[in-house]
Amino acid sequence: MVYKTANEKQTKALAKQIVGKLKPGDILALYGDLGSGKTTFVQGLAAALGVKATVNSPTFTFVKQYELLIHADLYRLKSAIDAETTGLFDYLGSPHHILVIEWPKVIERWLPAKTKKIYFKTTNETTREIIIN
Ligand code: ADP
Ligand code: MG
Repeated sequence: MVYKTANEKQTKALAKQIVGKLKPGDILALYGDLGSGKTTFVQGLAAALGVKATVNSPTFTFVKQYELLIHADLYRLKSAIDAETTGLFDYLGSPHHILVIEWPKVIERWLPAKTKKIYFKTTNETTREIIIN
């Protein structure tokens, strides 16, 4: 499905819709260029899951836990080998968390087949196309 959102709020609302279909143990891989709305989407997921803390792009860590939601942002991860130091693998097989990964390319080979892939595309300053299969 291709979803079109016209502002940040709509991207968060789409995330809220998706939350209804998620359960612990699920993994989401978010693809798309910088600024395409991946973190905004994760903020929407967190809000819908009742997370009180503010979700942002971790600067010094690659993986951050918000209650049952685990947010990984591997943008600055140099190599797949380095992935071992992030703590990400503790959550990859966890049946208790929802794991959401931005910039998943570097660890793609370890993602289970059930991983849901979501693609973000900037179409203009405020519009985004979000493809969810
Ligand atoms: P990414 O994590 O993919 O790099 P972010 O979510 O951090 O992207 O940033 C998206 C930026 O684009 C934010 O500044 C947000 O306000 C802006 N924006 C504009 N329109 C939208 C939209 N339709 N959906 C999501 N973000 C949008
Ligand atoms: Mg981001």
